[in-house]
Amino acid sequence: MHDHRRLGRELDLFDTDPLMGAGLPYWLPDGAVVRHTLEEYVREAERAAGYRHVYSPVLGKRELYEISGHWAHYSDDMFPPMRLGAEEVVLRPSLCPHHALIYRSRSHSYRELPLRMAELGGMYRSELSGVLGGLTRVRSIQLNDAHIFCTLEQAVQEARAALQLIARAYADLGIRAARHRLSLPGEAGREGAGGGKYVADPGLWRRATALLREVLDSSGIPYEEAEGEAAFYGPKIDVQITDPAGREATLSTVQIDFHQPERFDLHYIGPDGAKHRPVMVHRSIIGSVERVVAHLIEQHGGAFPAWLAPVQLLILPVSQAQLSAAEKLLRRALDQGLRAELAGPEHGSLGARIRAARLVPYQAVIGEREAEADGDLVAVRLRDGRRPGAVPGAELLARIAARVAARGPELWDAVVDAV
Ligand SMILES: [Zn+2]
Repeated sequence: MHDHRRLGRELDLFDTDPLMGAGLPYWLPDGAVVRHTLEEYVREAERAAGYRHVYSPVLGKRELYEISGHWAHYSDDMFPPMRLGAEEVVLRPSLCPHHALIYRSRSHSYRELPLRMAELGGMYRSELSGVLGGLTRVRSIQLNDAHIFCTLEQAVQEARAALQLIARAYADLGIRAARHRLSLPGEAGREGAGGGKYVADPGLWRRATALLREVLDSSGIPYEEAEGEAAFYGPKIDVQITDPAGREATLSTVQIDFHQPERFDLHYIGPDGAKHRPVMVHRSIIGSVERVVAHLIEQHGGAFPAWLAPVQLLILPVSQAQLSAAEKLLRRALDQGLRAELAGPEHGSLGARIRAARLVPYQAVIGEREAEADGDLVAVRLRDGRRPGAVPGAELLARIAARVAARGPELWDAVVDAV
């Protein structure tokens, strides 16, 4: 069974230091490669789906969270405010209020809707130090977040499209949703009581819940309803994952929100020339980079899909005599944008070097026979034990590049003969 905390340290992906503080992991170079690749993947998928990206600060004034409702319903999870002269500023507990302000800063016509605003940004949670650990319980969170400002008629389609982005990402990452959950409020929200965990507006809860049921039903996705799991401002669809011990956690979410547009007095100008209230669809495709990387580590035992692997290709000259052929191949691989390294004989016997690189998806062994062959052959070994045999270096690089571009967990496209 894989524990991401142990593997993360063993594989030099991330770590913590008591002086930085509990729940504040830092990323080592190999972990940073995985994270950067994931972030670029998400931004690319979002750009292709019509999202536009913004950056907003990780701090906000206390008044911002009083308007959003976080102060009344969520302050237990927030860091205490910092006093700056007459102001109080807070590390943000979510990105939504900032995005609502960015939307509000310009006037919008119905023609601009749906307006899809995305950001991979930091948010903070004041978890108690007793429950912190690894990448799953952290105080600093990098969230793949987006808010779609749209008309009521567009909301279901936007939420459905977000579920499709999530399904696509899971296939590319080689992970699987354990189940979909429609998360509803507990007692307080249902009865519309004030204060407490949920905003009091029974009509809001009913409308949003009906729309989310429609999203799930029309997507043909089976789901279970769970009370007491909603956000304070509305119900949500949670995409649940399980760790190797069977513990469940939420990775991705989709929400339809009537509350924040009301609180921030958002509007757009309709075809009638009058002001109308937009709906906000909140959604996260891969959740936080911390949680998704923890899950990827556990799911794959550190053997990331080739497109995410910190090192994709390891080049292994059998002896010093093949070093120049190996260096030539390394140069070509790097020029093509692959993450390649060379491990020469000074790193030990060939067997030892191969074992040390057991998580690297592709290994190219260059021996006497390969180096002397016309078309500079390499003997290919895959991480999963398959040996597709000897191919020209250029062909290997082209195959790897094609697999990396296609994403997903598969390593080799053609049917290969075991040697
Ligand atoms: Zn949000």
